[in-house]
Amino acid sequence: MNGYRGARTALIVGAGVAGLTAATALAGAGWQVEIAEVNPSRATSGWGLCLTGPALRALAELGLADDCLTAGYGMSVITHVDVDGEPAGQARLPRLIGARRPAMAGIARPVLHRILHTEAEQRGVVVQQGLTVTAVDQEGELVRVQLSDGTIRQVALLVGADGIRSSARSLLGLETSLRYHGQMVWRALVPRPQWATGIHQFAGKADTAGLVPISAGQAYVFLTENGVEQSVLPEAELVPRLQQLLEAFPGRVEEIRPLASVSESVVRRPVLTAFLEGAWNRGNGVVIGDAAHAPAPQMASGAALAIEDGLVLAEELGRHRSVGAGLDAFVSRRRQRCRTLVETSVAIAGLEHAQRHHEAYPLTDAGHRLMAGPA
Ligand SMILES: Cc1cc2nc3c(=O)[nH]c(=O)nc-3n(C[C@H](O)[C@H](O)[C@H](O)COP(=O)(O)OP(=O)(O)OC[C@H]3O[C@@H](n4cnc5c(N)ncnc54)[C@H](O)[C@@H]3O)c2cc1C
Repeated sequence: MNGYRGARTALIVGAGVAGLTAATALAGAGWQVEIAEVNPSRATSGWGLCLTGPALRALAELGLADDCLTAGYGMSVITHVDVDGEPAGQARLPRLIGARRPAMAGIARPVLHRILHTEAEQRGVVVQQGLTVTAVDQEGELVRVQLSDGTIRQVALLVGADGIRSSARSLLGLETSLRYHGQMVWRALVPRPQWATGIHQFAGKADTAGLVPISAGQAYVFLTENGVEQSVLPEAELVPRLQQLLEAFPGRVEEIRPLASVSESVVRRPVLTAFLEGAWNRGNGVVIGDAAHAPAPQMASGAALAIEDGLVLAEELGRHRSVGAGLDAFVSRRRQRCRTLVETSVAIAGLEHAQRHHEAYPLTDAGHRLMAGPA
């Protein structure tokens, strides 16, 4: 392999799933990595996340799948329930890290972040909290990056992993627009009912709800509110409003509703998507994760794409003589897979919105099978 032999110094903007896993993969390939994270503390919102098969497979490459399965909740089946509360079928997802191991894992976000931080730091990555990037210039073979504390870094690689509203993307001159899909998604942390050993998805007459276990003792309720303007509700209104929305569902949701009514962690977010149609890289800078491709949460695969990005980035940089050539190869390997996933997630969001659940389920299933292919 004729890999890059120049200075292996990287600055990553954002210590989310994409930034931390890219840092770990790059550090494992011999890069000296620093992360600038704008958040002054490591606290993350307390809701959970579903790590699908491709996410577990990518985490396994970093040696982290077992930690996530131990700290989270392994599962393999999605149970669909119809508007009358009756079972409407089950989807068995591909087991990508071995036939005897679960297809996916639910995990609390703070727990996942702790695992990712620990591994990155064990590999020598320096994570600077409360810091962001204010200017970027390509200078010969290096990128000159100005940071918000007034200091300068000159690095061989700049990675923008700062999420859907990425500043690094703008500073690199890569533009995209965000799309709002007329849906607000809710998450509420609840105790795990004993029957919840996999994901349950409940079709409603107006909205969609569900339950995802994230540990032996915890699960999160999700609800997608359809046909609403993007808005922020006062904190005090979150629990009563969620309670009201869940009242429209029969069957097992009736058991979940009282649990949600005492939840200490309820969040409501707009369904926003983005896909960078033009370049993802300029000079020695590149954007990854949600900064390049943010799917709707309906496919639960944004984190999978983000983790895969970091692995593929480190791999392609190791194969090419210059950073620029490595970044071109990274983008050409990732673009179609990420576009397909974003488009599929948007189509599923649209079908949910139109109450065409019987069409949304097979599309979700097909999307997961497609994602089982290589990163
Ligand atoms: C409600 C909801 C539910 C979801 N559920 C799932 C799921 O179940 N499974 C799944 O796979 N995906 C899910 N997703 C998608 C998933 O959360 C994202 O795809 C994933 O977090 C993307 O990771 P990222 O690191 O690219 O971005 P982020 O997770 O957004 O991380 C970006 C990081 O950059 C930091 N940052 C931002 N701006 C700056 C700046 N200017 N300078 C420095 N740092 C900055 C942020 O503080 C953050 O730490 C969900 C998304 C939503 C909204």
